[in-house]
Amino acid sequence: MNTSNDSSEMITRFAPSPSGRLHSGHALAAIIPWREAMDNGGRFLLRIEDIDRERCHAEFEVGIFEDLAWLGLTWEEPVRRQSDHMDDYADAISMLQDQGVIYPCFCSRADIRAEIARSDSAPHGPDGALYPGTCRHLSRDQKNTRIAAGDAHALRLDVEKSLALIKEPLVWHDRLAGVIVANPTAHGDVVLARKDTPTSYHLSVVVDDALQGINLITRGKDLFEATDVHRLLQSLLGLPTPDYFHHELVVGEDGRRLATRHKARSLESIRESGTTAQELFSQLGLD
Ligand code: GLU
Repeated sequence: MNTSNDSSEMITRFAPSPSGRLHSGHALAAIIPWREAMDNGGRFLLRIEDIDRERCHAEFEVGIFEDLAWLGLTWEEPVRRQSDHMDDYADAISMLQDQGVIYPCFCSRADIRAEIARSDSAPHGPDGALYPGTCRHLSRDQKNTRIAAGDAHALRLDVEKSLALIKEPLVWHDRLAGVIVANPTAHGDVVLARKDTPTSYHLSVVVDDALQGINLITRGKDLFEATDVHRLLQSLLGLPTPDYFHHELVVGEDGRRLATRHKARSLESIRESGTTAQELFSQLGLD
């Protein structure tokens, strides 16, 4: 994979999904990398993470541009849209396939739930019960027969096998938390290509950050643990490891993290109520 990065120049990014209108949590997540880039004579990129074709809509992408412009942010063109770059993810999948660290998984969500319920001690990770590894044990013949029959399948990363191939210490650096020893096993065999789309959040974000030369990744603390998986993928794919800054999340009046699905107040409605961008910056503690 070709990645070009003049390491003396800071390159940051904001990578929203157009699955709803942005709220003030997104504003913070966008302003932090923009300021880092501007304060350091670097570059700020915007990336549209739209691999989930069901949940992502063009109108929300337009909304992202409007909201960021209202905040006074500027970004480079062209904006990278993940759905335009499926070939890059396919290349990464084939590199991993060549290393023998990927396997097809035919399980439905219900299969996984049932398998977990059957087991006395299902291991749990940061996002709940881990994949129990059902399809990891299929024979080559079983896999080939099911693929030939057209059975829908995802592709999972065999984390144990991957770790056995890695020769370097798997560490990364966070600006607040310091040096972190990655523990990707805590996530189990994550999905790298979904049944409905031949990539996943983990794979696309790692490939894109490398291809775009991002050397400071800023994002909310909710994605802190995911970085362990990303670090493993960087190592398998021979990609550079950027610096990280996982920032605090904006919480609502109920003390819970703002989320589109909880109907957090959108930047559009904040703007329409007469609040200025400067007032929002102050509310976010960004004077
Ligand atoms: N697209 C992700 C989100 O909207 C952010 C990805 C990242 O910053 O790594 O939560």
